[in-house]
Amino acid sequence: AKKLGRNSYHFFSSELDQQTRSRFQLTSLLQGALEKQEFQLFYQPKVCLKTGQVTGVEALLRWFSSELGEVSPSDFIPLAEDMGLIDTIGDWVMEAAIQQAVAWKQAGLSINVGVNVSARQFQRGNVAGRVIGLLNRYALEPQYFSIELTETSFMHSAEKTRSAISELLRLGVSVAIDDFGTGYSSLNYVRTLALSQLKIDLSFIRNIETSEKDRRLVEAMVAMAHAMDLEVIAEGVETPQQLDLLQRMGCDQGQGYYFSRPQPEETLTRWLQNRPL
Ligand code: C2E
Ligand code: CA
Ligand code: CA
Ligand code: CA
Repeated sequence: AKKLGRNSYHFFSSELDQQTRSRFQLTSLLQGALEKQEFQLFYQPKVCLKTGQVTGVEALLRWFSSELGEVSPSDFIPLAEDMGLIDTIGDWVMEAAIQQAVAWKQAGLSINVGVNVSARQFQRGNVAGRVIGLLNRYALEPQYFSIELTETSFMHSAEKTRSAISELLRLGVSVAIDDFGTGYSSLNYVRTLALSQLKIDLSFIRNIETSEKDRRLVEAMVAMAHAMDLEVIAEGVETPQQLDLLQRMGCDQGQGYYFSRPQPEETLTRWLQNRPL
């Protein structure tokens, strides 16, 4: 490397240092987060657009760091993937979600709980085996558990991902494709796997009131999902106008702030008790 003058070296080093340090800091805090019980699952309902019934809830991970405050999953999940921490965190998420599904069932609120599984977990871990083990351990029927994976999961270790998904589907666990339309085109996998649901990414829903183009695109996605016998669910439903349009398009389910924000267990339980199940 070129020998740098004192000042430029200093400048360069402090810039870099700051980035490295914050990433390093985040990593070491993330490593301790499980032990310190800083993770919590929030739950957001999915609603049938025809009947208004709740069809399930999605578990969304929250990190309340004692040092950093609340950190968004969009910031720490990619880091956890890079640092090889996603398997441990993913196992915790699955176990906590299954425990919650059991608790709701015992309270008379039988409901499907879905978790997000990242591409790395399929790539490296035995996702199907872990799910089977947990369902057995907690004696939970597979219809109360589901997983969501993004299209990009098929980009790497396509065969491994595909066989894990087939195994889960065979078991009776439903599988949804998340963020549909934003990633690597997985139409072939969608076509050849007997998946359960297709979730239209919220970026397509955001402007359906004002953009005719987006409206037609969403309409086409709904038609395509139905042509493949898949249930279709719209993410990010925020307004009654969006709901109305989606209902008219024949979209099966919706999820979003219009119905409920993701909430901790206690408040969501109260919310569920006031809804038709
Ligand atoms: P996602 O799976 O696509 O989850 C939907 C995101 O949209 C969530 O963000 C949710 O809070 C947000 N959302 C829901 N309704 C609305 C709405 O009406 N408007 C808007 N603007 N946003 C809405 P969140 O909770 O911040 O999660 C971000 C992403 O982090 C998730 O996207 C998912 O990819 C990832 N993630 C969250 N929890 C986990 C987890 O346990 N494991 C893994 N691997 N990834 C997770
Ligand atoms: Ca999701
Ligand atoms: Ca999504
Ligand atoms: Ca997303």
